[in-house]
Amino acid sequence: MQRIYLDHAATTATHPDVVEAMLPYFTDVFGNPSSIYGCAQEAKAAVEEARARVAGLIGARSSEIVFTSGGTEADNYALKGVAYANEHKGNHIITSPIEHHAVIETCEFLSKRGFTITYLPVDEYGLVDPQDVKKAITDKTIMVSVMHASNEIGTIEPVEEIGKIAREAGTCFHSDAVQTAGHIPVNVDELGVDLLSISGHKLYGPKGVGALYVRRGTRLFSLMHGGEQEKRRRAGTENVPGIVGLGKAVELAGQEMTAEAERQKCLRDRLIKGLIDGIDHVRLNGHPVRRLPNNVNVSIDFVEGEAMLLNLDMEGICASTGSACSSSSLQPSHVLLALGLPPEQAHCSLRFSLGRENSEQDVDRVLEALPAIVTRLRAMSPLLRATE
Ligand code: PLP
Repeated sequence: MQRIYLDHAATTATHPDVVEAMLPYFTDVFGNPSSIYGCAQEAKAAVEEARARVAGLIGARSSEIVFTSGGTEADNYALKGVAYANEHKGNHIITSPIEHHAVIETCEFLSKRGFTITYLPVDEYGLVDPQDVKKAITDKTIMVSVMHASNEIGTIEPVEEIGKIAREAGTCFHSDAVQTAGHIPVNVDELGVDLLSISGHKLYGPKGVGALYVRRGTRLFSLMHGGEQEKRRRAGTENVPGIVGLGKAVELAGQEMTAEAERQKCLRDRLIKGLIDGIDHVRLNGHPVRRLPNNVNVSIDFVEGEAMLLNLDMEGICASTGSACSSSSLQPSHVLLALGLPPEQAHCSLRFSLGRENSEQDVDRVLEALPAIVTRLRAMSPLLRATE
């Protein structure tokens, strides 16, 4: 059976050109970039070339890019880095309740150590109202962190407006762009961000590598102490093959992004329409228009998301019920609950996230398989019987 992978928000397959670009840095050009001989300096040059590419993708300067182990570390570094560097100024952080766990859990950590966190409300589509950010800012606010787009429901947040408000208030602004960088345009000046998180494996690069954009002049407390790598902002020998892979993935994303986004948007809309037309009691989660080109998130009443996932898997279709990190948990998604969905509807959710290798045939396979799965599951559903 041919596998249909529709979980690109969880991770993507590393692009073959990325693998090819990385290979020499495991074997031939394996020197430590901090050493002075030729093959080490070659590795250092490759790291710097990748840095320039990442900077180029988001309209930043090379010197403003710090390589990390991925999106989680970038988020941790942004939040803890700003919090501890600005303790003398204030202890208030503003964020949204639909952030990735890497932000939410870091805020929870900080809240147990003297910081106060405001979780802004979101509307039924998951949108933050920039005016709520304005109202929440106090003279103790040191940071606002609102994601560029949701990994679960695909809603694209009004980051530009929030950036302007944060700038006027003189507050540092971080945005998690893990789901947008390389997929839709991201420009740090247009967004007005001081910090921005990126992850390699969400844009056809390798796992275990990412980057944090740090606007020149932003004060950050380092999380890693040791050597002088990354201008002392992140100690530890660089993951040279990973960084080279991220650079290559970013280069490819820059070339393909516009056409791919348009193509995926058509597939997305075909899938949404097909699900709503083909199955009763389906609700689209997330914003209908301000939405990532590859994201489809629906609640299908009276059937457990996990049961649908397992049945789809038996048909060779890979999807998700929420973010990858919470899909092994039986808790309903914190994002869907924040939109106001009752827990039983949040439990009935499915997320499909499209990618570069998906075709119309893949979408049609889902539209063929899922209605039959839903009918079968509803026939045995205690959730449906409870309403009869
Ligand atoms: N932020 C968002 C929005 C994500 O979707 C993810 C991964 O799912 C992360 C952060 C964490 O990134 P990583 O897996 O590179 O640690």
